[in-house]
Amino acid sequence: MSSLEADFLQRLELVLGPPPVSLHEPVLGDIEGRLLQECVSSGYVSSIGPFVTRFESDLEAVTGARNAVAVVNGTSALQIALILAGVRPGDEVIMPALTFVATAAAAAHCGATPHFVDSDSGTLGLSPEAFRRELSKIGQRRHGVTFNKLTGSPIRAVVPVHVFGHPCDMSAICAVADEFGLSVVEDAAEALGSQLGGQPVGTFGACGVLSFNGNKIVTTGGGGAILTGDDELAQRAKHLTTTAKTPHPWEYVHDEVGFNFRMPNVNAALGCAQLEQLGGFLMSKRELYSKYSRAFQDSEDFSVLREPPNCRSNYWLQTIILQGEAVHHRDRLINAAHSIGIGVRPAWRNLHTLAPYSHCPRGALDNVEELSRRIINVPSGAALVQKVHRDRLERSRL
Ligand SMILES: *Cc1c(COP(=O)(O)O)cnc(C)c1O
Repeated sequence: MSSLEADFLQRLELVLGPPPVSLHEPVLGDIEGRLLQECVSSGYVSSIGPFVTRFESDLEAVTGARNAVAVVNGTSALQIALILAGVRPGDEVIMPALTFVATAAAAAHCGATPHFVDSDSGTLGLSPEAFRRELSKIGQRRHGVTFNKLTGSPIRAVVPVHVFGHPCDMSAICAVADEFGLSVVEDAAEALGSQLGGQPVGTFGACGVLSFNGNKIVTTGGGGAILTGDDELAQRAKHLTTTAKTPHPWEYVHDEVGFNFRMPNVNAALGCAQLEQLGGFLMSKRELYSKYSRAFQDSEDFSVLREPPNCRSNYWLQTIILQGEAVHHRDRLINAAHSIGIGVRPAWRNLHTLAPYSHCPRGALDNVEELSRRIINVPSGAALVQKVHRDRLERSRL
């Protein structure tokens, strides 16, 4: 083992205690058990039930969004949000190349084509400058719509992503979107609890999207939500995600092609239990960030990614950025951590390098190509802080 690898593992163990430690474990306990039991006893486990309504109003309270519509996962939430934003087959949707594949898949499910724009090295999210540069270069305004003059397609929307929970520069991104007539759909799948200038993310665009997958800050097993300030859009989201059935006591009339995307009551029960603990999860993750930041502070090879200025990040996934020559050792560092049972991982492959998206239009992607080689995500579960306290206590007893 090289000294760089040994140094990396030693610093990780300083934060995490003895392995094994996985990348992100959900925190599940008594509250979840109690509400799940209540849900099962009620007989309502499927897509109608009081926990769905309660989960949605809890989400509205936490995010300040006027409406939250709970659905089966974050990907379907994005797909519906894009439809609400007016995305149609043949359109292009601007997004970063450094994101989970679901951002692009949702656009593709609408029959649209992702159009990749570079990211900002500070926030890891969409770069407003690169966004403006790309639209100025390839965009052509006709009747209030910006077309890509190289492909002839309308560019309908932009999907900024709050990568690893860190807010991207929404005011600058919204200003560019406004200037070119694009709708904004915020992919806040990773960022429940994050704020920008005191405003929760997911509430800046026409719609925002959350995910409650098992590895997110709050989980419903699988789940997602659409946030919107527009009551009509919320109504339409509910209609589209419940098979587009018109209300009637016994007649089955569906007035368009709908989706079966509503969140089941049993998942919402889990979500209600998790949301009660969100404040605690956020505190633990912030404390974990401080521990990583202390453990790596004197290193020339590693830095720990910090929340952007004027932001409060939920620190969903803690991120080490390899400095200088350490970039050449990324895979060896990851292997070394895995070999002792510490679950670390690189950033996702940049989407434009994946087969289904390699043909998609894109601007220059210099920042993401450099960035993604330098990123290592390290264990981030909210229970880790307590685990370390427990381990220390046990060792002190021995
Ligand atoms: C998790 C995630 C999604 C999709 O959510 P699922 O609930 O897994 O479908 C979308 N975008 C980003 C950035 C994500 O991290």
